[in-house]
Amino acid sequence: MNDCLFCKIAKGEIPANKLYEDDDLLAFWDISPQAPKHFLIIPKKHIKDPASVGADDAALIGTLIRKAGELAAENGIGNGFRLVFNNGAEAGQTVFHIHLHVLGGRPMAWPPG
Ligand code: AMP
Ligand code: ZN
Repeated sequence: MNDCLFCKIAKGEIPANKLYEDDDLLAFWDISPQAPKHFLIIPKKHIKDPASVGADDAALIGTLIRKAGELAAENGIGNGFRLVFNNGAEAGQTVFHIHLHVLGGRPMAWPPG
């Protein structure tokens, strides 16, 4: 998608502090971290939000979630991490290209704010 920040990051048109990349996925550190460790994982394919994940995307998003666990472990937060998908502005989504937040390194409260 032309005017999408995370598509531009996926294409390398805007720099990001990357921690993982393959043909389908990209992980990069959040520019405004909400925990000592806070990174995002995106599919390179533009999907607007979790509600827009199609049946054809199921394997891709499953792989993305598996990668979250692997990267959490590799980055020292394997014992406890929070995964968040915000869906829609009312839920706090600000970038409309699906992304999984991975947060760790501090105790996590419940319910979330
Ligand atoms: P959300 O509010 O769920 O849409 O999350 C969007 C996230 O993207 C926020 O945590 C932002 O801090 C993060 N973000 C926005 N721009 C960038 C960027 N250029 N590089 C890294 N993270 C970003
Ligand atoms: Zn996009």
